[in-house]
Amino acid sequence: MLKLFNTLTRRLELFKPINEGKVGIYSCGITAYYLPHIGNMRQYVVQDLLKRLLIHNGYSVKHVQNVTDVGHLVSDADTGDDKLRAEAKKEQKSMKEVAEFYLNIFMKDMDELNIIKPDVMPKASEHIEDMINLIKELENKGYVYKADDGMYFDTSLFRDYGMLTGMDAKELSQSLMEGARIGKKEGKRNITDFCLWRFAHGDEKEMIWGSPWGKGFPGWHIECSAMSMKYLGEHFDIHCGGIDHIQVHHTNEIAQSEAATGEKFVNYWFETNFLTVNGAKMSKSLRSIYTVSDVLSKGYTAMALRLFLLSGKHEQTLNFTFDALKDAQNSLDGIYAFIRRMSGIKRSGDEINEVFMREISESAKSFFAAVEEDLNLPEALSAMYSIISKTNQRHESGKLSKKEADHIIEIMLDIDSILGLRLSIQKEESALSDSAKNLIEEREAARKAKDFEKADSIRDKLLNEYGIVLEDAEEGPTWHKKAKGF
Ligand code: AMP
Ligand code: ZN
Repeated sequence: MLKLFNTLTRRLELFKPINEGKVGIYSCGITAYYLPHIGNMRQYVVQDLLKRLLIHNGYSVKHVQNVTDVGHLVSDADTGDDKLRAEAKKEQKSMKEVAEFYLNIFMKDMDELNIIKPDVMPKASEHIEDMINLIKELENKGYVYKADDGMYFDTSLFRDYGMLTGMDAKELSQSLMEGARIGKKEGKRNITDFCLWRFAHGDEKEMIWGSPWGKGFPGWHIECSAMSMKYLGEHFDIHCGGIDHIQVHHTNEIAQSEAATGEKFVNYWFETNFLTVNGAKMSKSLRSIYTVSDVLSKGYTAMALRLFLLSGKHEQTLNFTFDALKDAQNSLDGIYAFIRRMSGIKRSGDEINEVFMREISESAKSFFAAVEEDLNLPEALSAMYSIISKTNQRHESGKLSKKEADHIIEIMLDIDSILGLRLSIQKEESALSDSAKNLIEEREAARKAKDFEKADSIRDKLLNEYGIVLEDAEEGPTWHKKAKGF
């Protein structure tokens, strides 16, 4: 029974889909104006976990994640340039080239981190007509007014404005002003009003479209309303994004979507907290970032990064340090070594010790119960580690049967259908090069002949030249690959 913390109600709620057996999820995608960083990737790894859990629970999931390639201004206050337009000027490229360049990197990062691709990845620039139609609808209903630089949404006309924040409109304005997120602006009726359609300046040529209000480009918030409703319907199940979006972006999405349709927009708002560095948000605009490739080039694996990114509770900040990443790498290596060890168990015998297996299934149950409780990963991972340590103990005392080991591998792979740490590759990968296989055999022969010096030197060679760690077990050596640099 999956429970999610819903920002809208500020409560842990039992998840119930709108249509039985089906779930619609929308994720605010990247703004493709600069290198995506591992803070952004925290969002997508955590959302991937949620999606895998829903799939594991038998739902058919439709996942939509947009790409913002126009419309996201430098400031939430509806001032400043479009982030992509500014970067294009700086790099002396077209906005399209900038977006393609950074989107490509993002897609590679998603692959590296084993994130299941969304079913639809709509680009804002390819949905202008949908946005114009939505703004027209809002205009027909009287929510839109004209200011000097664009068409604006009058937030004072939307009764529940700010509902996602738990504040009323006045408190929200106050809080936004104090945080300097938005402020008074010439021509705006209310502080929280926001731009739906921005008029083009004379020198702006690219990503400019005609509209009933003149040439220009859409506001960032209207993009997500138009694209989510186009692909998931006017009322859908889960909307994801960073907690920075609660007060402005998501609040505005709710206002304009519900004002247009007269219906509830989204049932569950699933917002994940920041990845921080030295206690401050990792941020593209502050350029305080590490990318996936920074991490890989230091010798850590993408799966260690994934394990690190999903190791916290998603409502809490997670602080990035290389020491923490190193711990995640060591834990991952330990998990991989465990799977290889289990795959290498050859002891015959079909016996299953019921007491032992019951303990293992209790831990497996605890894993699933913890993830179902609003993705409580610290608790879930500790249940998984207890499967590993209990099994290792039994193995070390020489009691683990092949049948038990096979069963435990099945449990671990089931767990991994949610964690996504590519454990099955560890099980299946027996692709040792011939020379490495020969070395392992040579070392085994040396060990049996009690030539420990030779055995140790071959073992070092395997580690240093092939990155292979050998472990001696009763039924012969097992091996796993060590991450580079460790
Ligand atoms: P952007 O590309 O800036 O539109 O951001 C893409 C996603 O990353 C959004 O859901 C943001 O809320 C989220 N995000 C940005 N910075 C961080 C961070 N340091 N930690 C976690 N999520 C972040
Ligand atoms: Zn969005």
